[in-house]
Amino acid sequence: MVLTINFERFKANFNELAAIGKKDDGGIYRMAFNADELLARNWLEAKLEAYGIPTRRDAALNIIGRYENEANQDKPAVVIGSHIDTVPNAGALDGALGVLVGLECLLCIKEQSIQTAYPLEVIAFSDEEGRFGGMFGSRAFAGQLNPRIIEESQDLDGIMLSDVLQQLGVDPYQALSASRPKKEIKSYLELHIEQGPVLDAENVSVGIVSDITGLFKWQVRLLGAANHAGTTPMEMRKDAFMGLADFAHEIPRIIDENGGEASRITIGNVALYPGSANTVPGEVDFSIDARDVSLEVMNELKDACRKALSAIARRRQLSFDFTEASMIYPVACDNQMQSHLEEAAQQLEMSYKVMPSGAAHDAQMVAKIAPIAMIFVPSKNGISHSPHEWTDWHHLESGANLALNALVRIAGDR
Ligand SMILES: [Zn+2]
Repeated sequence: MVLTINFERFKANFNELAAIGKKDDGGIYRMAFNADELLARNWLEAKLEAYGIPTRRDAALNIIGRYENEANQDKPAVVIGSHIDTVPNAGALDGALGVLVGLECLLCIKEQSIQTAYPLEVIAFSDEEGRFGGMFGSRAFAGQLNPRIIEESQDLDGIMLSDVLQQLGVDPYQALSASRPKKEIKSYLELHIEQGPVLDAENVSVGIVSDITGLFKWQVRLLGAANHAGTTPMEMRKDAFMGLADFAHEIPRIIDENGGEASRITIGNVALYPGSANTVPGEVDFSIDARDVSLEVMNELKDACRKALSAIARRRQLSFDFTEASMIYPVACDNQMQSHLEEAAQQLEMSYKVMPSGAAHDAQMVAKIAPIAMIFVPSKNGISHSPHEWTDWHHLESGANLALNALVRIAGDR
């Protein structure tokens, strides 16, 4: 039997949520725990309650709706969800879509009184987008939070996360207790927009994610000597910027020799010192953002970057140092869940593409405690984090139908 979502209801809910926090410039501003995000939370809770799905907020303020029956209530839950907070000036899909699809799936299953072998939960994780650092809710959920994160997290205006939680009537340290033991979670499914151009370019409705990319961020400093741009001969300079330029040109070679198809290296932030037009730059600070789906490849990329920097520094008479600002491990999606997704797609006669995810998601955190899988839908022109972020309705419907049918399979009804 093939199940289908109530598309009109889904669309109505989608439009209601998309209106919350929308400003005159067309963008949505639901940054974690701001006034509009709190409205969106109330909206979601009211919706779940109105549809008869018992709902609670955990100690990290994740919103969790649960559908269970007497036979399955003591079993681990199959969880579906994402986040409803946004970046500033966001579109309507990133995060919200996954929660809305989760909501619609639970409603369909409840309406048709489908008795799954495992209870189902829909979840909206707190602060995925990073007003206070990112993935706060899913970190807490997966037991990856620590007191330091709670104490030190602040937004760009210097507002402390702990103060905000207190104002909301929550003891910040209690967030640690939102951690769910492995035995309570059977698996986690997340539907998300691709946030890249691949599905749109190939006109495929759904992607089935194989791996979620890992990421390391370095902050690098090349030190030379600042000197007069007119009197310092070219061969006598210690020009830090030339070192950076050499490194930038090494990136394609590093990826060819040490990377794979999913490897990405980006220099996105550069500061030159002293930064005046008539002075040879004596210092350059820059970021490296490098990603791959294999930990082994990530380590090779690190090695290759280090070697290239050290060779360049020697050649240009510079010194260099770097700090690793963050390291997120890559995650493989669960094979069995992936098979459920592929079987459901075939049954729905839907074309799909198995692909890696180049962006980080809550699923990556949840993977610490449970098997995960992800569905992608196309991002028009690959755009996200923008009011222009869009996915055609028929792709949204396909993605939601795939989620529904896969969820029922995963929850062990058939
Ligand atoms: Zn997202």
